[in-house]
Amino acid sequence: MTFENTLSFAQELDRQDPLHPFRNEFLFPQYKERNAIYFTGNSLGLQPKAAAAALKQELDDWAQYGVEGHFHAKHPWYSYHEELTGSTARLVGALPEEVVVMNQLTSNLHFLLVSFYRPHGRRVRILTEQRPFPSDTYAFASHIKFHGLDPDACLVELQPRAGEYTLRPEDITSKIAELGDELALVCFGGVNFLTGQAFDIKGITTAAHKVGAFAGFDLAHAAGNLHLKLHDDGADFACWCSYKYLNSGPGGVAGAFVHQRHLQQDLPRFTGWWGHDKKERFKMEREFKAMPTAEAWQVSNAPVFPMALHRVALEQFDRAGMERLRTKSIQLTGYLRWIIEGVSAEQGGMFTIITPKDSAHNGAQLSILVKGDGRSIFKRLSERGVFCDWREPDVLRMAPVPMYNSFEDVYRFGEALKAAVAG
Ligand SMILES: *Cc1c(COP(=O)(O)O)cnc(C)c1O
Repeated sequence: MTFENTLSFAQELDRQDPLHPFRNEFLFPQYKERNAIYFTGNSLGLQPKAAAAALKQELDDWAQYGVEGHFHAKHPWYSYHEELTGSTARLVGALPEEVVVMNQLTSNLHFLLVSFYRPHGRRVRILTEQRPFPSDTYAFASHIKFHGLDPDACLVELQPRAGEYTLRPEDITSKIAELGDELALVCFGGVNFLTGQAFDIKGITTAAHKVGAFAGFDLAHAAGNLHLKLHDDGADFACWCSYKYLNSGPGGVAGAFVHQRHLQQDLPRFTGWWGHDKKERFKMEREFKAMPTAEAWQVSNAPVFPMALHRVALEQFDRAGMERLRTKSIQLTGYLRWIIEGVSAEQGGMFTIITPKDSAHNGAQLSILVKGDGRSIFKRLSERGVFCDWREPDVLRMAPVPMYNSFEDVYRFGEALKAAVAG
């Protein structure tokens, strides 16, 4: 598509966008009595207008029923997480028995590492991408130490080639082959938080399985962003949070996926009563009997309040559909890229977009390296009602989110960026 840098062109794209009405279902921070340009949905998604009533429903049911709310609430608390299973499975391309909503992201990563990082003999290493999210690095290192091993020797972070910012897919698979039988686990992000690079889940999984390693994915920046097919791609496990692209509120409840092939296996696992066979849970017997689904990894009963928020958000994803969202996202991010390149060219190439250009290798995020005083540009953007994100020393990140951002937002961002660059 050929783009134009005009308000009328952007507004015409919005008129043609079947998802544009979703914008009205969200509450935007205000700037000069209009919606701010909110490009930080990759950090904290916006609040759906329906969220407040969903929370109030649970408070009202608690007031009315007390403990009986477990069974008599409008959405019975005892089985609350089960109401989220269908939408979650659709969201990440999984079978219903492969997913569960529980805990928070890093906790889920820990629980899954218990099952899927089991070093033995020579097979002790974890391969991950360059600069994974720090929480993931801490989790990997702590499991390595927990097994009496040395993180410096066992955790391998794959670096891009000299002079490049992101990883070439062929370098990932060749590194996996090179590590071979030393590799216990390959664990990558779905989309790297810093560069916005999307990784090939199927390619990485296939390569890992070829050398006898497991493949797991942290989908914090991929769930609700990419059109995922976890079951078909064959990933062993995955986890994600719900407060970024999934709009379920700060500290929202997280998700986990375990491939069907591992269900009903007696994997090592840290267990709790909510993972016990639900038909017999209240017999309160001594012996643990695992649920035959990903729910076997649950330890605690459902946190109903964050789940109420998550239910609202997932319902929106069901209506919008990941396929349509991704189609819009490619166009929206493409427009933003084109706008930024235009501003950069006027300024003698002051921005380098490090996020891969091919839509097979990106999501709804662009990361740009700024030459010169990027921090001041970021500050001036903020003062003009633009929400984006600055990572020291020189990366500006922005995420045009297809669920609620518009082409007009992108156009206005371009104008704000020009003004911010001018000082
Ligand atoms: C956002 C993010 C986290 C945050 O972890 P929480 O447990 O939700 O606080 C972890 N890992 C990745 C890759 C992230 O992007």
